[in-house]
Amino acid sequence: MSGHDDESGERQCLARRGALTEVNARIREAAGRLDADSLEPTWEFMCECGTPDCRTHVSLTLAAYEELRDADRPVLADGHDLGRGASARRKAREQREDAHALAAQAKLQARRARRLLRRGDP
Ligand SMILES: [Zn+2]
Repeated sequence: MSGHDDESGERQCLARRGALTEVNARIREAAGRLDADSLEPTWEFMCECGTPDCRTHVSLTLAAYEELRDADRPVLADGHDLGRGASARRKAREQREDAHALAAQAKLQARRARRLLRRGDP
């Protein structure tokens, strides 16, 4: 019984985080329109940890927010953390990226080896 509750709780968390990401995107849009005449202002974004009772605002400059988005990282208040599910997915993605980098490295090494072999041949 409790296992089922955990699962639906996690789903709710995910839905909530999606909504928060959406809210922050709107804030960023609005800020982008107003940003022109102010220098390095900070904006109140929502913490995206997804905890149901989290109402924490996070002050970020647009540049800092864009940096997080570019890195595909969530907006998080100090000491807040994403749930288990999200970090597991993040880990899977990191491992995929590692595999990708390794494959590229292997290709490079193979090319280098071929070049060395050719040079060895008279
Ligand atoms: Zn939070």
